[in-house]
Amino acid sequence: MHRGEQVLEELIEGNRRFRAGKSTHWCYDGTSLAALAEAPAPRAAVICCSDSRVPPEVIFDQPLGSLFVSRVPGNVASDGVKWMIEIAVGEFHVPLLVVCGHTGCLAVGQIVQGKTMGAGGDLRLHILSSMFIAQKSKPEDLWHATVVENAHHTIEMLAQHSRQFRAAISADELVAATVLYEVQTGEASVLAVDRHEVQRH
Ligand SMILES: [Zn+2]
Repeated sequence: MHRGEQVLEELIEGNRRFRAGKSTHWCYDGTSLAALAEAPAPRAAVICCSDSRVPPEVIFDQPLGSLFVSRVPGNVASDGVKWMIEIAVGEFHVPLLVVCGHTGCLAVGQIVQGKTMGAGGDLRLHILSSMFIAQKSKPEDLWHATVVENAHHTIEMLAQHSRQFRAAISADELVAATVLYEVQTGEASVLAVDRHEVQRH
């Protein structure tokens, strides 16, 4: 199994602990903080929404220092996200990238409601194009379908626009996964895993 797939399993296992009220990673002492200061070694890069209900360290029950994170409304492929990947992949050689979409995403909801203008500019249009793709299958819940499509779309945008991401995927050094987080239940489920290349639309 690829190391990235192993780490993904660890995140999903952490999510089970979180849902069971058995989170383990929330208490730190001076010694562990000092060790982290000396040698940061993140195991995964995570792109997550800014939503207050989805902090990745909490929902995947991962310790300080293990996730290299970029949070942006609608978990879109912003310039900040691309920069984050350049560091996480280029400097830390993380074996896993997770794009975590979530139910009830207000950023996605704004676009579905037609609010395509405003702060964020082109980033809103990323979500709009995901909505157009989601509409093709005539989903009962367009908001939810757009959340799912938008997570995939972020991977596709990175495949197109992040040299670092492309190189790591084609060298099989990085696995890219999309995950859906249900805010109602706290459950994180894997939607898709890309290895070697990104194959979507
Ligand atoms: Zn959101």
